[in-house]
Amino acid sequence: SVFESLESEVRSYCRGWPAVFDHAQGSRLYTEDGRAYLDFFAGAGALNYGHNNPALKRALLDYLARDGVTHSLDMATTAKRAFLETFQTTVLRPRDLPYKVMFPGPTGTNAVEAALKLARKAKGREAVVSFTNAFHGMSLGSLAVTGNAFKRAGAGIPLVHSTPMPFDHYLDGQVPDFLWFERLLADRGSGLDQPAAVIVETVQGEGGINVARPEWLRALADLCHRHDMLLIVDDIQMGCGRTGPFFSFEEAGIVPDIVTLSKSISGYGLPMALTLFRPELDLWEPGEHNGTFRGHNPAFITATAALDTYWTDDQQEKHTLTRGEQVEETLRALTAQP
Ligand SMILES: *Cc1c(COP(=O)(O)O)cnc(C)c1O
Repeated sequence: SVFESLESEVRSYCRGWPAVFDHAQGSRLYTEDGRAYLDFFAGAGALNYGHNNPALKRALLDYLARDGVTHSLDMATTAKRAFLETFQTTVLRPRDLPYKVMFPGPTGTNAVEAALKLARKAKGREAVVSFTNAFHGMSLGSLAVTGNAFKRAGAGIPLVHSTPMPFDHYLDGQVPDFLWFERLLADRGSGLDQPAAVIVETVQGEGGINVARPEWLRALADLCHRHDMLLIVDDIQMGCGRTGPFFSFEEAGIVPDIVTLSKSISGYGLPMALTLFRPELDLWEPGEHNGTFRGHNPAFITATAALDTYWTDDQQEKHTLTRGEQVEETLRALTAQP
């Protein structure tokens, strides 16, 4: 087939699922010969509202039909204004989050690169601490804070200015949380350069679904505060309601300095990413971080529709938590079978 003869060997997911998909609706994917599959993968967290969600599709079709601007670099458009206003009223304000909103290029790794650049610029330091089994993306800055040896080796050059620390449960509770990290920070002989920032996922996705406890996250936020390190939460996969609340760190009650979002932010599987940060960190010069596809208006349209449809009350959050319990119960019952 053309996939084997023409498409690069780098292709991966299609190898595990030898089927050719044609259409999709809600939680079902259909192959070209009409076979239905229940899509538990959900675009690795990019399809939290399902495939071709009708409310989002309606908004997108209307926008396209009236020749709404599709591409606009970072020009002001009505679609971008509607998104920013809706994000402020449905997400930021109700949670009392003061963030400024940056549109990096439309992929997750772009949002992470922007976060790392900004943290280094704000603190005037190079070192960043990441965690074991972390995944933050495939471009060089993001790879440097990613754990996977195979993916790191793909860089072909040294990945520097990052130091891994044990994620929650990594040492099976044999050592008090952050004992090693705090010791290194306090000891001028440890060899750890004073970090500009710490980057963390509240639940590691690609690294194997490792869940950090809320108290571990609170202790990390406290450590960052005491040692003048910025806390970056990479909420690209676990944000947008994946764990229940809009931001995955809400349960822990922490307020990160910088937050990255992508995957389900457009709601429709359209590329889009955001880097959010405290206003005092907005130290960018105009155009200092740039990109041709920062103004992907169709994604702003579906993102706005997703917020309007699902995030004006707490129904979505409750529904996700209920579904989570249902899945957990079912899987536990399965594993309990002899
Ligand atoms: C998927 C993911 C990324 C990278 O996003 P891309 O759009 O693939 O560049 C970064 N961080 C986390 C936590 C992710 O799950």
